[in-house]
Amino acid sequence: MRMAVLSFFAFFSMLEAYEFHDLDYLDQRVTKKQIEKRLTFLVKDRQLEAYYSLTDQCFSLHASLEDKLLNKVEYSLALASDEVSKPQIKKDLKGVKIALDPGHIGGKWKAYEKRFIALIDPDTQKKLSFNEPQMAYQVAEILKGLLEEKGAEVLITKKGEDAAVYEWDFKQWLAMAHPQAEEDSYAAFFRTEYNVLDMQARADKINAFRPDLCLIIHFNADIPTSSELGKQGFAEDNYSLVFVPGAFMIGELNTSAKRVEFARLALTCDLEESISFSEICLKNLVEDLGVPALVDSPLAPTYITKASIQIEPGVYARNLFMARMVHSPLCYGEALIQNHLEEARKLSSLEEEGSSCSARVRLVAKSYFNSIVQYFCN
Ligand SMILES: [Zn+2]
Repeated sequence: MRMAVLSFFAFFSMLEAYEFHDLDYLDQRVTKKQIEKRLTFLVKDRQLEAYYSLTDQCFSLHASLEDKLLNKVEYSLALASDEVSKPQIKKDLKGVKIALDPGHIGGKWKAYEKRFIALIDPDTQKKLSFNEPQMAYQVAEILKGLLEEKGAEVLITKKGEDAAVYEWDFKQWLAMAHPQAEEDSYAAFFRTEYNVLDMQARADKINAFRPDLCLIIHFNADIPTSSELGKQGFAEDNYSLVFVPGAFMIGELNTSAKRVEFARLALTCDLEESISFSEICLKNLVEDLGVPALVDSPLAPTYITKASIQIEPGVYARNLFMARMVHSPLCYGEALIQNHLEEARKLSSLEEEGSSCSARVRLVAKSYFNSIVQYFCN
């Protein structure tokens, strides 16, 4: 156990932290206008203006409002007067590096993770059961095959359908981090601590790969209403949406590490490239799946009304951990609503005898594949 504990802590010190100076190469290469446009998607709460200043000459970060008032700068970069022309976009996928991150862990941890659907079809009494981690992994594997055929280099963050990316499984970690933990607190530890370590491991793995593009794969679910179907666990509407980085809220720039990512998103092209790619993904998901885009309205889920900025219907900026920590253009896809009755029927019918994959999941993978081709080649 002693060896295990030592390497558990050594793992953290091995990670190379991303720092403000990693952005130095952008000195005099970004204009005020470019940053202003990005800030409209990055800043959800005006109070965050305490942490940065934008003038004609420079973009600066401050550790606090007091520091800003004292003109104390944490990091500053000189701006360009004219936009630097963008490099030519590739016309094929040869040599393009693509990271795929199938969301969640699944497998034997599903009781703690709570990412599975088990409903009864009210008409046939048939079981409708499937789980998001497995479907997300299937999408990643299908996509990997299609992309590699076109010459792309592909990384899937997880090593298996029910694997974590973090080097210790949940029980190993728990024995080291919380040896006294009681069974009834496992789910809370899983969600609030272990899951964060796993997401950090995913982001680190993706960033070490230095991808040209990243797709984070999830399937959505919605809270059942009080209708008859709702009482049986079904959601009222089916819809798709995708997230890009942004919509930082109060308290989300209170550490240097968070401000570094904010500065990266304000200074690099990652945000507008994420928006371009995500718009293509959303359009294709809507057309291919026949499921509408989620429109921002008072009836939308609170993570949309309270924590996101609508870029267009179905495309939202939101400060999700993975969206913030991955250093490349990305789409965080939340295709369809799994607990919508019609959708649950499609997701639970397997494409053929012996297969564990539904035709619906394959369709999602093909939709993303077409979006990646269109992003690089059109
Ligand atoms: Zn998910």
